[in-house]
Amino acid sequence: MGCRYCNGLNVIKRGKRNGIQRYHCKDCRKSFQDSYSYQAYNLAIDDLIKSLLREGCGVRSASRILNISCGTVLSRMLKISKQVEVPKFQSFGCKFEVDEMWTFIKRKDDFTWITYAIEQKTKQVIGLYVGSKSKETIKPLIDKILLLHPKRIYTDRLNIYPSLIPRKVHKVFQYCTNRIERMNLTLRTHIKRLSRRTICFSKDKKYLEAHLRIYFWG
Ligand SMILES: [Zn+2]
Repeated sequence: MGCRYCNGLNVIKRGKRNGIQRYHCKDCRKSFQDSYSYQAYNLAIDDLIKSLLREGCGVRSASRILNISCGTVLSRMLKISKQVEVPKFQSFGCKFEVDEMWTFIKRKDDFTWITYAIEQKTKQVIGLYVGSKSKETIKPLIDKILLLHPKRIYTDRLNIYPSLIPRKVHKVFQYCTNRIERMNLTLRTHIKRLSRRTICFSKDKKYLEAHLRIYFWG
């Protein structure tokens, strides 16, 4: 086979990385994988990154486990998250919960909000918004639920919800009575786990969002 860089034929096998054969060109002294296995390698790495993130693994651990840089994990994470399709929820008359939690970005004094909606019975995540909370930013998420003719939408006491959700379906969490039920929510548990272990290291809102998309729907 020829060299990827100079097309020279003075190519020898030299070692393996993550099980993939590497080659070395004696003419230009560059190392590479042949393009076929390079493609396969890329797909395999994307799959591994996806599995690790879905397991609640952070970018740093993924980088360590796969022996690739954090920067590479981050850029691949963005790419993978763009391919993620949000599953369509199509049942009408269900009950939904909308909740927010805040999380740090980059530095300890810089934080943002994750607002998410789940269907109560299936715990399916219907939608997600990362960023500051306002009527304008949360509206698309609420509208998405309203299209499903919800029986009930539970939220906290945040003052923007009454203006977005019709009164007859809106219900505010009663923290004392619903507490055990709410503590059982897998989502909250996962998000807590994510935020503690991984999200704190998110450099940027877009990485945080990409991570969550892969985690929930990847
Ligand atoms: Zn060469």
